[in-house]
Amino acid sequence: MKKSILMLLWFSILMLFLLPVQTNAAANQTKIILDGQELTLPNDVEVVNVRNNIMIPIRVVAENLKFNVNWDQKTQNVSIQQGSKAISLTVGQQEAIVENSNVTLNIAPQMIKNTVVVPLRFVSEEMGLRVGWNNKEKIVTLTNTASVPSSPSNGNGNEGTTNLVHEINYANNQLVVSMDQEVTPVITTLKNPERIVVDFPSTDFGNMGQVLPVGSMGKLDTSDSPNVSEVRYSLFKNDPAQVRIVIELNNVSAVNYSQQYVAGKFILDLSMVNGPTPATPVTDGKKVVVIDPGHGGSDPGTISFTNKPEKNFTLALGLKVQALLKQEPNIELIMTRETDVYPTRSERVKLANDLNADVFVSIHGNSVKGSPQVSGTETFYYQRASSKELANIIHKHLIEALGFKDRSVKNGNLQVIRETTMPAVLLEIGFLSNKDEEEAMMSESMQDKAAQAIVDGIKEYLNL
Ligand SMILES: [Zn+2]
Repeated sequence: MKKSILMLLWFSILMLFLLPVQTNAAANQTKIILDGQELTLPNDVEVVNVRNNIMIPIRVVAENLKFNVNWDQKTQNVSIQQGSKAISLTVGQQEAIVENSNVTLNIAPQMIKNTVVVPLRFVSEEMGLRVGWNNKEKIVTLTNTASVPSSPSNGNGNEGTTNLVHEINYANNQLVVSMDQEVTPVITTLKNPERIVVDFPSTDFGNMGQVLPVGSMGKLDTSDSPNVSEVRYSLFKNDPAQVRIVIELNNVSAVNYSQQYVAGKFILDLSMVNGPTPATPVTDGKKVVVIDPGHGGSDPGTISFTNKPEKNFTLALGLKVQALLKQEPNIELIMTRETDVYPTRSERVKLANDLNADVFVSIHGNSVKGSPQVSGTETFYYQRASSKELANIIHKHLIEALGFKDRSVKNGNLQVIRETTMPAVLLEIGFLSNKDEEEAMMSESMQDKAAQAIVDGIKEYLNL
């Protein structure tokens, strides 16, 4: 009897202590830093975490950005206006109106302690702010992109040593991670199942749209990647923060990777050796090369100086490359077209990806309207280090063989080299809009030289 009364007393005392301490701590911890200045938050106004969404008080932020803010108590509506830009939000409704069109928020605005809070993600997307969330210090950093063009640090620099991840994508055998700083990750491969673990030290999640507390996990949609069963990311530990990304592979007997930073993005290229089950063609250890003569059929490509379609040039050269590669005992050659037909770009990509080809080469002729003096050879790759290497090698051979002006190797966002999953290049042999180059490109002798240069480049790249 005596014992249970004592227990009850203890419990009451504990409650008395615990409750107020917890609420006060939460209210005082969070900070909002806008363009390096800490905002003064009115009493009880705070940053809150609702179902893993960081929500910020919209009025304080909008007013500090010199937006006009109106609150309609009756309809629970917040309208924000600056110049021609108008935003309308309603408490409890996921639908918002931004410049006369409907926008769906990932979580509805809420009224918390007489303050309307909205998801941080909405603020970044609709109000043009770069946002960051330091989960450890509970600091929201907002940068007005209109006034401060892409500052690499976050906030006022006091808390700014932590690198922030803003976006993670996986497609075409590439993991792409957008972040503030170039941090060297620790990469480990593990077996059973085959997986790659990428750890970024001193790194936390920034504007990912949701907050991931330590231990919880996010996943990417990898339904387009048959070799990947899962890509998951998490804040592996705190203090110091560490972001971990795990790529779990499926039916893969071996995997190689290369890493690089391109324009502030970390890129991890995977090349996988398929396991025994998928339907890969039997190639007897041969290298699979896909040659893609650009355009064809209903798509003429560009029209040359003397009114000939680009598709004729690309096919003629492609067939010469085919004739040479057919004599190579260690190369299995596949053409995307051998006649005047038009496979779509997606079909060309799918062909090469399904074959798990070793090399993809797309052949084109360049042109520029109204500038017949422009000339030269340029070679495109997209992001992947292996594609860049292939591009450098073939480009070197083309410049040597043809003697056209060297317009260099370039990173180009072109579908057939972007969506293919192997080393892939797109060759712009020369300018069909230039009188001299067109004449050369249409000649048998120059096409023979170009074909030999392409074949030499492919063989050099493949160490054959
Ligand atoms: Zn073309």
